[in-house]
Amino acid sequence: MIRYLKILLLTLVFLLANTLPVSAARVSVDNMRMWQEPEKRQIVFDISGPLEYRLFTLQNPNRIVIDIDDARLRGKLALANKNDEILAAIRTGKQDKGLRIVLDLRTKVHPRTYLLKPAGQYGHRLVIDLYDERLKEKKRSIKPAVRTKQTEAVIVIDAGHGGEDPGAIGRRYRTREKTVVLAIARELAKLVRKEPGMRPVMIRNGDYYVGLKARRKKARRSNATIFVSIHADAVPGRRARGSSVYALTERGATSRVARFLADSENSSDQIGGVSLEDKDPLLRKVLVDLSQTANIPLSMELGQEVLKGLKRIGHVHLNRVAQAGFAVLKAPDIPSILVETAFISNPTEERKLRTKAFQKKIAKGIFRGIKRYLQKKKYSAPYRVTQAKLPGSVLRHKVRRGETLSGIARKYGVNVDALKFANNISGQNIIIGSKLVIPK
Ligand SMILES: [Zn+2]
Repeated sequence: MIRYLKILLLTLVFLLANTLPVSAARVSVDNMRMWQEPEKRQIVFDISGPLEYRLFTLQNPNRIVIDIDDARLRGKLALANKNDEILAAIRTGKQDKGLRIVLDLRTKVHPRTYLLKPAGQYGHRLVIDLYDERLKEKKRSIKPAVRTKQTEAVIVIDAGHGGEDPGAIGRRYRTREKTVVLAIARELAKLVRKEPGMRPVMIRNGDYYVGLKARRKKARRSNATIFVSIHADAVPGRRARGSSVYALTERGATSRVARFLADSENSSDQIGGVSLEDKDPLLRKVLVDLSQTANIPLSMELGQEVLKGLKRIGHVHLNRVAQAGFAVLKAPDIPSILVETAFISNPTEERKLRTKAFQKKIAKGIFRGIKRYLQKKKYSAPYRVTQAKLPGSVLRHKVRRGETLSGIARKYGVNVDALKFANNISGQNIIIGSKLVIPK
């Protein structure tokens, strides 16, 4: 009986195998994800293999059509956010022997599309980046401000990975590096914002991927005084623990762990979804001539201070600042470091990384190091004044809800412009909870 069944099954399998290639398409679209950046949407389709496709833009109403040859849909394509300002809906249909995907838009967009080869946890992917045209127009209308002198230290905080690139994933709780490093980055930004003479700039402030080159570009554009990239990576094995600080090197990495981490960080673009045009033509070649551009001695000094700051709050993995060829640190003239806050591959540290208390602690350690470094470098005018010339005699005002600049100025009997100047405020906005320096 069992034998007959076996034969019957085999016959069925044989029949199916012979009929399938006729009706089934060569490639399948299996899944879809969307990442929301303020000015951009990234739509990623998981596909079973390389494919041929055409993309065109239509108006009235605005939509984008993607025709994929010889493909079929497996699974469902749906938008998670129904109220998105850019993308209204997604529809699919058959087109000849292929698949048609229609993206209904709420606004005009500039699309960019490319295929990605398998990387990290993903297989082949088709990526469509939609850039909001409205923002492009707005940007064009703003004239770049000419800065006469830098009166504040701009701390550029780079939360590693994001969006399509989850970074390392913890073994015990499946914690994603991209999530915990953003939380730490936000804590650090809070501390920086409270400090007179310092201003934070976040490279990403949400769950989306920013290319390595774009990160450096943003740092340069925001007039960065220093650049701090925050990570929590995994290494083989469960034992490695503690924080480490890295700076760039033009020579070989200082240790095997450093080399391993640099390799995994540099592959971020392949996982995160960055089109080929965005990448450095030859990453390695670029890394070789770094010595002329990147500010390695200052980065090392900054790294040492941050390492000291981290040592005060807990365990450090290495006692020295390690060096490796991290692409994200290659910003000319900006002292840049990469902080591996803890090892997500260590179950104990993974658990800690998830807690607000630990995230705050790490942020505090990094902040102390940054502050110390800036003090040593006597950076930024208001910083120097409050720290060196007027110890203890500086009057500060903590901004409460509902308060205005003119109201605060009136309260202390000072000129509004003087108040703005002392705190390097250009507009009318003040941040609740921030501390304003009251000029004399
Ligand atoms: Zn990382």
